[in-house]
Amino acid sequence: MATPVAELLTLMSRSLFIGGTWRPAVRGGTMDVLDPSSETVFDRVPAATAEDVDAAVAAARQAFDLGPWPRWTPVARGRVLRGMAGHLRERQQELAVLEVRDNGKPLAEAVLDIADAIGCFEFYAELAEQHSAWRPEPLVLTDPRFTSMVIHEPVGVVGAIIPWNYPLLMAAWKVAPALAAGCTVVLKPSELTPLTALSLGDAALAAGLPPGVLNIVTGDGPGAGQPLIDHPGVDKLAFTGSLATGTKVMQAAARDIKRISLELGGKSPFIVFADSDVERAVEWAMFGIFWNQGQVCSATSRILIERPLFEGFLQRLLEAAQAIRMGSGLAPGVQLGPLISAGQYRKVCDSIERGVREGARMLCGGPAEMSGQGYFVRPTVFIEMARDSFLWREEIFGPVVCVAAFDSEAEAVREANASPYGLAAAVMSRDDVRCERVAAALRAGIVWINCSQPTFTEAPWGGFKKSGIGRELGRWGFENYLETKQITRYVSSAPWGWYLKGRGEA
Ligand code: NDP
Repeated sequence: MATPVAELLTLMSRSLFIGGTWRPAVRGGTMDVLDPSSETVFDRVPAATAEDVDAAVAAARQAFDLGPWPRWTPVARGRVLRGMAGHLRERQQELAVLEVRDNGKPLAEAVLDIADAIGCFEFYAELAEQHSAWRPEPLVLTDPRFTSMVIHEPVGVVGAIIPWNYPLLMAAWKVAPALAAGCTVVLKPSELTPLTALSLGDAALAAGLPPGVLNIVTGDGPGAGQPLIDHPGVDKLAFTGSLATGTKVMQAAARDIKRISLELGGKSPFIVFADSDVERAVEWAMFGIFWNQGQVCSATSRILIERPLFEGFLQRLLEAAQAIRMGSGLAPGVQLGPLISAGQYRKVCDSIERGVREGARMLCGGPAEMSGQGYFVRPTVFIEMARDSFLWREEIFGPVVCVAAFDSEAEAVREANASPYGLAAAVMSRDDVRCERVAAALRAGIVWINCSQPTFTEAPWGGFKKSGIGRELGRWGFENYLETKQITRYVSSAPWGWYLKGRGEA
C-alpha cells in the first residue's frame, strides 16, 4: 500500500546542507513553502543569507583545494554518483509526491521527472568513467624540440542556481555533471521549490560523498542567489532561469571572469506543413505547450500551420485543449495542475489580458474561476495576434499558445527565426528533405523533426541568441565543468637560445 502523503513529508531534512552536515541558517530565518494547488503553507525551510553562502562556498572551496574529491579516480567518483542515484531511487515515490506538493505538476509528470533525475546521475557516473577527457592527449608540435600534452581538470567550485519548473531534475542536470567532473558545488534551489533538492544532501551522505563537495542553501534570489553569484570563491556559475536574472549572473561573472553557462527562456516555434497528419500534429502540440502547465523553457508556444491545414488543426487543438482535466496534481487523472505561484499566475493572466487588449482572439482558456483555491489557468489558445505583439514575441511561461497560418516555407522559417530567443524549434512534414532543409535554417539549439519536446540526457541542451550560453546534458554538459590545460616539455639537449633563433628565423 502507498505511504500516506503526510507521512512521506515528515521524512525530509529541513536544514541547510553545508560541509556534510545539516544546520539552520546563521540568522535563523525561515521561508514558508506553499502548495500551489491550495495556496496553503505546508512546510518551512531555512532562509539562507550571505553568511550561510560564505560558509557553503568556504566548505566547497576547501573540499576542492584540499579534499580528496577532485583527486579521486573517475571510477571512484562514478561509484558515489551511482550511490546517490540508488538512494534517490529508494525514495522515488516520496520524492514524486513532494515535487507535486511543491510545484503543483500532475503526479504522473513528477514520477517521470524523478526517474529522469536519477537517470541523469547514472548517466554521468558512466560518462565520468569513460570520457576521453581523462586520457592525456599528446600533441605533435611544429618544433620537434618540444612535446606537449593536453589534459582536462575540474573547473573548481560551481555555484548552481536553478528554477522551480523541474526542481529535482534541474538540480540533477547541474550537480551530476559537475560532480562527475570533480568539481565541488553550492546549489541554490528556487525559494518556491526547495524541498526535493534537499534530498540530494541525504543522497550525498548515504553514498559517501566527502564533506563539502555538495552544499545546498535554500533562500531567495536577493538573499542567497546574489551573494552566491557575487562570491569571489566561486569559479563557475551554472544558471537556469529568466533572461533578467541570467543577465545579472553574466554581469556578476564578469567581475571575476567566472566561467558561466546560462539556460534562459524561449519562444519556441512549431512549423506544421499541410501534408502532416493532423492528429499527430495536435498530439505533439498539446504535449509541447500544456505539459508542466506550459512552464517549460522550450515550450511550443508559437505554432505555425500551413494555411490548408489551419482550420482543421485549430478545431482539433481546441477540442483537445478543452478536454484537459485540470486540478490538484495529486488527484487521479489530472493533466494540468496549478501554476507555481501567485506571481506567475499574475504574470500569465496579465499576458492573456494584454493579448486580448492588443487585438488577439482568445478561442479558449483564461484564468479559472477558482480564486483562493490554487493558481489555475486553463489551456489557452490565441489566434490573430500581430506578429510584433507581446503575445507572439515574449515568453509567457504558462499554458498559453499562439497559432498562426503561413503560406510558404520561406515565410515560416523567417517568422520562426524572428525572435530574440533560439532555444528550440520543431518542424513537421511527410517530406523528409523539406524537414532537413527547415531544420538547417532554424536558428535554435534544439530542432525536433516530426515531434516536439522529447528530451534525452545524452543529447546537448541549450540555446542560440538570448536563450543562453553553453550546453547542458550529454558530454557537452560534462565538458562545461572542465578546464583544458597544455603541458609542454622541452625535450632537446641543445641550449634554448633566443626564440626566433631557435625557430631558425633569426
Ligand atoms: P528567476 O530567473 O528569477 O529565477 C531562477 C533562479 O534564480 C531562482 O533560483 C531564483 O531564486 C534565482 N534568482 C533570482 N534572483 C537572483 C539574483 N539576483 N541572483 C541570483 N539568483 C537569483 O525566475 P522567476 O522565478 O522570477 O521566473 C520569472 C520568469 O522567468 C518566468 O515567468 C519565466 O518566463 C522565466 N523562467 C525561465 C525558466 C527556464 O527554464 N528558462 C525557469 C524559470 C523561469 P528565487 O526563486 O528564490 O527567487
